[in-house]
Amino acid sequence: VFLRQIDAHGFKSFADKVNIKFDSGVTAVVGPNGSGKSNITDAIRWVLGEQSARVMRGAKMEDIIFDGTENRTPMNYASVSLILNNDDRTLGESKEVVISRKLYRSGDSEYFINNEKSKLKDITELFLDSGLGKNAYNIISQGQVDEILKAKPVERRKIIEEAAGVMKYKNRKHESEKRLDETKQNLARVHDIIEEIS
Ligand code: ATP
Repeated sequence: VFLRQIDAHGFKSFADKVNIKFDSGVTAVVGPNGSGKSNITDAIRWVLGEQSARVMRGAKMEDIIFDGTENRTPMNYASVSLILNNDDRTLGESKEVVISRKLYRSGDSEYFINNEKSKLKDITELFLDSGLGKNAYNIISQGQVDEILKAKPVERRKIIEEAAGVMKYKNRKHESEKRLDETKQNLARVHDIIEEIS
């Protein structure tokens, strides 16, 4: 799977609709300080479900919406799509996968997979173990290399587990344990009721 194109509209400095296309191989983005290079990686993180405004380099999530310049009015929403070439079928059966996220100033937020309204959970699950996803270490920001090197063994193990594809099973185990717990509680209530009426 490879990222073929990013479409952004109203996201940070991208007031106009932009289509950033990538070829296979290495792509370098160059430009002066503050010209918006990091906003491109921010856009990728954001579509993959980043929930932290701090990670997005803002104070609140709304800060990712284009907030205007001297001669342009602010936008009401930000929208980003990632167009992924899925020839190797890593992400299901379709040849191409389009993941989109939209945020309105009102706080309303929407996710889409192939233009169908989806939940954040669907996007997270789609990318689990694919080597992509917001926690998959495919975007290494300034300072993160140091962080990984300095990580405690337990933290580093998490990184290796994600890369090795163990996380999916850990998540499923956690969900099953939660359901088991709920069932036990229900059972306890049933026992109480049986005792009360007998
Ligand atoms: P550096 O080389 O310094 O890391 P960069 O090229 O990576 O810079 P970015 O940090 O991606 O640049 O871009 C920062 C620019 O984006 C700033 O000019 C900032 O004003 C602009 N920007 C960020 N958020 C918004 C927003 N909500 N609306 C308009 N512009 C924004």
